[in-house]
Amino acid sequence: METFKSANKITDRVNTWRVAGKKVGFVPTMGALHDGHLSLVRRCLNEQDICLVSIFVNPTQFNEKKDLEAYPRTEHRDLEMLRENGCHAAFVPSVNEVYPKDQREYGTIDLAGLDKTLEGEFRPGHFEGVVEVMQRLLHIIPCNVLYMGQKDWQQTTIVNHMIRQMDMEVSLIRCPTQREKDGLAMSSRNERLSKEDRKRSGTIYRVLNQARLWAEKKKPREIEASAIEYLRGAGLTPEYFKIIDGDTLEGINEWGNERLVVACTAVWAGQVRLIDNMILSGQPQP
Ligand code: AMP
Repeated sequence: METFKSANKITDRVNTWRVAGKKVGFVPTMGALHDGHLSLVRRCLNEQDICLVSIFVNPTQFNEKKDLEAYPRTEHRDLEMLRENGCHAAFVPSVNEVYPKDQREYGTIDLAGLDKTLEGEFRPGHFEGVVEVMQRLLHIIPCNVLYMGQKDWQQTTIVNHMIRQMDMEVSLIRCPTQREKDGLAMSSRNERLSKEDRKRSGTIYRVLNQARLWAEKKKPREIEASAIEYLRGAGLTPEYFKIIDGDTLEGINEWGNERLVVACTAVWAGQVRLIDNMILSGQPQP
């Protein structure tokens, strides 16, 4: 596996692959890799000629400085995992490499309110940071296909919107969420859960499944209220549980003819904030 720290060098390398007719897949990550990340890497390896992974803890998407400082950094182990899985290249830049002082600012993009709901309500500025870094990374890595996780539903929706707004020639593939045995979505944050909170956290997956069943009888708002109660009853502190149109991210008041209906939730388990979602009906594209 080739490892790059320099943005210019990796751009050159990607361009040589592209000129040689190779399809380049890109998996952006913030490191502390787990099997969820690796599922994206494996899919990329299966579908593209080249799989390139970035490991970059993006400072602009953290609204709390202490979260940025506390973010786990396990670069050596991450690179080993990528190597073992057959990844072709890793990009491990410094902050200056992605945000060079002399570089022009990227223009803002109209996110059509997609960044204001769900996570956006609780993490102001978070998606501006995500869009900023994704523009920069896609500029450095002119890939054919981008692999991102469904676990971050809103993030994939916003990045897809950005790609369309900017007329970028890249397609985004939204990959299914990998889960622990009890259904808890894999996340580097799970390591920080106490034993009791770890046990309680399995409820998030159970309530999402329950929401699917409730959808046969209850109205969206009733499901949201029941889910909040269910989570609280299990000793968790839900921040939101929302039933949304999976494309526009708008809340659904009455069942109608939405193409895609998704339940999204953010929950505190002790000091750890967890997010998850589940498609209640419809098929995501692609
Ligand atoms: P992160 O390092 O948290 O920024 O995540 C990098 C990518 O991995 C994002 O596209 C995430 O959506 C994806 N990802 C994180 N956790 C999972 C999971 N449990 N299953 C599938 N993809 C995931």
